[in-house]
Amino acid sequence: MKLTQINKTYGNKHVLRDITLEFPAGQITVLVGPSGSGKSTILRSLNLLVTPESGQYDFNGHQIDFSQPVSNKEKLAIRRETGMVFQDYNLFPHKTVLNNVTEGPTQVLKMGRRQANELAKEMLAKVGMADYGNAYPSELSGGQAQRVAIARALAMKPRYVLLDEPTSALDPELELSVLKVLLQLAREKQSMVLVAHNMAFAKQIADKIVFVESGEIIYDGAPKEFFSTE
Ligand code: ADP
Ligand code: ADP
Repeated sequence: MKLTQINKTYGNKHVLRDITLEFPAGQITVLVGPSGSGKSTILRSLNLLVTPESGQYDFNGHQIDFSQPVSNKEKLAIRRETGMVFQDYNLFPHKTVLNNVTEGPTQVLKMGRRQANELAKEMLAKVGMADYGNAYPSELSGGQAQRVAIARALAMKPRYVLLDEPTSALDPELELSVLKVLLQLAREKQSMVLVAHNMAFAKQIADKIVFVESGEIIYDGAPKEFFSTE
């Protein structure tokens, strides 16, 4: 997927300025940069939680021109294919872990209950949470909850998984459990876009690093060159 010359303003604040960025399929693109530089806004533009005022978006050949209104149908279609994982997990508190993961497949994909349960168990196993299907989110550690949120995103079989600082709310030892899951997904060539604050991890997982500052792209390229100039 690709954004071309997108602009986003809030009031008179120009948050993204003529951003052009490619997110190669099968790769991990990691957005880094100071707080408030526009990383989340870029990530949210990719699943249309944020709509820029101008520019184009190419999602797997489907073209969106942001100077025209984006239809709800387009928004839903793209959200279905871009699983979002937030900093604070956003699990449904009154649903079990298993039902958090089956929600999308049954409600959105209209999958049968039995098939959805099988899929959810498979995804929970993938993130090391197979034994927690009957637990409720309040019974989980932050690291466990975030792994369930990742399983929930994966259950929709999205083309891209978008992660907004997925470990920034976690203690280091819990963070590690989530980072391991992301490294495994990277080995499986799951396409991902990640906003990261952990530079050591960004260096380890990124196929491509994008450094954002004041709404502009300062660096877009291989991690090797980026980290050698630090
Ligand atoms: P980052 O993810 O790099 O921390 P953000 O993309 O969250 O940066 O924010 C970029 C800038 O846009 C910040 O100055 C932030 O306060 C502002 N911003 C983000 N969302 C909104 C909003 N809904 N309304 C007004 N300003 C916003
Ligand atoms: P993050 O840094 O993780 O992106 P923020 O705390 O900046 O999170 O933003 C949380 C929410 O508040 C987001 O939905 C963002 O769009 C919104 N937001 C951020 N900055 C502003 C702002 N200055 N005015 C209004 N809403 C904002």
